[in-house]
Amino acid sequence: MSETEIAKLGEFGLINELTKSIKLQNPSSLKGVGDDAAVLDYQGKKTLVTTDLLLEGVHFDLTYVPLKHLGYKSAVVNFSDIYAMNGQPKQITVSIGVSKRFTVEHIQELYEGIKLACEIYGVDLVGGDTSASVTGLIISITCIGEGEEGKIVYRNGAKDTDLICVSGDLGAAYMGLQLLERERVASAGMKDFQPEFAGKEYILERQLKPEARKDVIKALADAGIVPTAMMDVSDGLSSEILHICKQSNTGCRIYEDRIPIDYQTAVMASEFNMNLVTAALNGGEDYELLFTVPLTCHEQIAAIDSVRIIGHMTKPELGCMMLTRDDNEMELKAQGWNSLA
Ligand code: ADP
Ligand code: MG
Repeated sequence: MSETEIAKLGEFGLINELTKSIKLQNPSSLKGVGDDAAVLDYQGKKTLVTTDLLLEGVHFDLTYVPLKHLGYKSAVVNFSDIYAMNGQPKQITVSIGVSKRFTVEHIQELYEGIKLACEIYGVDLVGGDTSASVTGLIISITCIGEGEEGKIVYRNGAKDTDLICVSGDLGAAYMGLQLLERERVASAGMKDFQPEFAGKEYILERQLKPEARKDVIKALADAGIVPTAMMDVSDGLSSEILHICKQSNTGCRIYEDRIPIDYQTAVMASEFNMNLVTAALNGGEDYELLFTVPLTCHEQIAAIDSVRIIGHMTKPELGCMMLTRDDNEMELKAQGWNSLA
């Protein structure tokens, strides 16, 4: 790969390099990159806005995360937040701070991942900002989406008899991170290091190239279900369910044996001598959807392949509990990812 210094292109040259191939696909994107502001028109729909800040060394480690994957993931995690409101992501803006260590080609790789995510999820890149940074890479993405009046789902709408549902499986991204971290440590100072990744593809993909659950939002809409409360699982199931309970003023009861966990996650946890359920409850970055629905939706939910019912809400005085496999009650605690802890 050739290595072009960013200074050679300058800020405007770099912006042009990164954005010249962009074609707008959504009718709500009236004006994208190239003026002082993008212009959007949501024509009577509600506008959803979410933003994420990613700092090198805090949120990602470039020794094992390829830049293209990083770009893809940075975009997808924002889409996930819009889906978690029962909305559709439509536009993003991408702001980057880049230190001298990075070349034009590096940033192009990052953008390839961002653009691929945009293409797959039908989102337009409509602007951003570009600056030098003193150390490391900084990425901030803002996503704008649309929601329909009356169908936007908040965290505070759960009722004390609702069913608790989760999509996909949990803990895999966290175990993928543990594996990458183990191989990074093992490779330190070695020249021709061959990491041991065979049979671990799923957990690696969950960590490096997560997807947002657009499909689940569609399946719910097709079934005519509007969840009473919803959020995406970015910090771990335990901490997320506590958010919903607190905001909805309910308790909850989930069942350990119903928590969906993939085989590779289980194998990895046992290799690390880690408690599997702890990993599934507190491991972050699953980007699955956690939501509640009225009891009457039981059958329709059961018919959706990628969704599992893991418990039910309760009156707030009953607390937030998990019934373990050996019939003990355990109080749920938020032990998930917290960059400020
Ligand atoms: P301003 O001086 O108004 O901030 P800029 O020169 O920073 O404008 O940006 C020019 C145009 O390029 C704007 O439309 C802006 O949204 C877009 N832009 C700047 N940086 C990026 C980036 N990293 N990715 C995508 N678009 C960008
Ligand atoms: Mg600017």
